[in-house]
Amino acid sequence: MSDQWGFETRQIHAGQEPDPTTGARAVPIYQTTAYTFRDSDHAANLFALSEIGNIYTRIMNPTQAVVEARLQSLEGGTDTAVGIPGALVVASGQAAETLAILNLAESGDHIVAAAALYGGTYNLFHHTLPKMGIACTFVDDPDDAAEWQAAVRDNTKAFYCESIGNPKNNVVDLRAVADIAHANDVPLIVDNTVATPFLIRPIEHGADIVVHSATKFICGHGTAVAGVIVDGGTFDFGASGKHPMFTEPDPSYHGLAYWPGLGAGSYIIKARVQLLRDLGSAVSPFNAFLLLQGLETLSLRMERHFSNAQKIAEYLDAHDQVESVAYAGLASSPWHDIATELGGGAGFGSVPAFEIAGGLDAGRRFVEALELHSHLANIGDVRSLVIQPAATTHSQLTPEEQEATGVTPGLVRLSVGLESVDDIIADLEKGFAAAR
Ligand SMILES: *Cc1c(COP(=O)(O)O)cnc(C)c1O
Repeated sequence: MSDQWGFETRQIHAGQEPDPTTGARAVPIYQTTAYTFRDSDHAANLFALSEIGNIYTRIMNPTQAVVEARLQSLEGGTDTAVGIPGALVVASGQAAETLAILNLAESGDHIVAAAALYGGTYNLFHHTLPKMGIACTFVDDPDDAAEWQAAVRDNTKAFYCESIGNPKNNVVDLRAVADIAHANDVPLIVDNTVATPFLIRPIEHGADIVVHSATKFICGHGTAVAGVIVDGGTFDFGASGKHPMFTEPDPSYHGLAYWPGLGAGSYIIKARVQLLRDLGSAVSPFNAFLLLQGLETLSLRMERHFSNAQKIAEYLDAHDQVESVAYAGLASSPWHDIATELGGGAGFGSVPAFEIAGGLDAGRRFVEALELHSHLANIGDVRSLVIQPAATTHSQLTPEEQEATGVTPGLVRLSVGLESVDDIIADLEKGFAAAR
């Protein structure tokens, strides 16, 4: 397996050899709960982590392992000292975020996050993590370095942001935020769902940990819910004394200290052997297989998503029933330059949002008149999708919280699919006619 291969080659081949027993070329679905031990010593070694291998599908599975190795490769994650992937695939994007945080913060700790977040993430950080004793300070303007710094406390354990915000389409200067995180001895976690590693690889720009809702572009076909955590291996959890969850002995592993005990990739190994073991949000082998079907064509799909979305954003920008368009591909976007820098100009995502003239009611008529677009809560499908965030994904937020996450009553969010762009535009015209 060559690390030198290009992205397109690795999205098809990384992490896989043809099945040694059957010669199967595609990755088989290892639909098994458990794995036989060679003998009692083997069993004891696996449980003691003195030898790493398959025990039980909640923690490890060969189909899942190929997805993990592939996403490690595509995101530029670390190899681990024990030979398992530097990525962990779990049951959903929300589970990935939850594990990513709980792996480094516990009751009494604090995190700092950009306020422009996916609604589910906002709820997790605003309500559920605090119930578990983990406080979160939200940075209203993630472009303001001073606001990130001012939010830091003695007990801060991580910074968190989305590379491209859903649905605000803001693009975070990852290097700037990573530098502040590192100056305060904490890692930067980046949700890279909207960008995908084809466009932005946050670890190359200073991030330490990447999370995804793999449900979206990685799966790509609207057929499976899953999430992933990728460990960049870049953050030294032992350097500052600020991360005892890594450096203090874990009684649940006979007093193992994950760092330096497990070496490179200790973050992602700990997430698997400690948290996934205990919290259990495992992905099914079948869903891991579906992720592989999507990943093989990620670059091709993203290229078409980007070109269609760019045309749609320009169409919307010129439309007299549109008050504003949130999409970094437009030169008027405040994030056009940083998005061009991070993504190399290859694209700007494909989840544009726009403010429709006439507000909530016009938005409702617009959404209901569309025929090609599916009205649903998802992004990253091959099909074009539409939703009104204020009435759905962000409806559990107060009006002030909605504003902080970039949601206004008349906001319509599209997920531009892979259909003929003329058909997508013709459908949007039906919506505008109904909204008029
Ligand atoms: C959908 C989404 C999530 C949540 O992922 P699930 O797979 O639905 O749990 C997190 N972040 C972003 C940016 C998303 O779009």
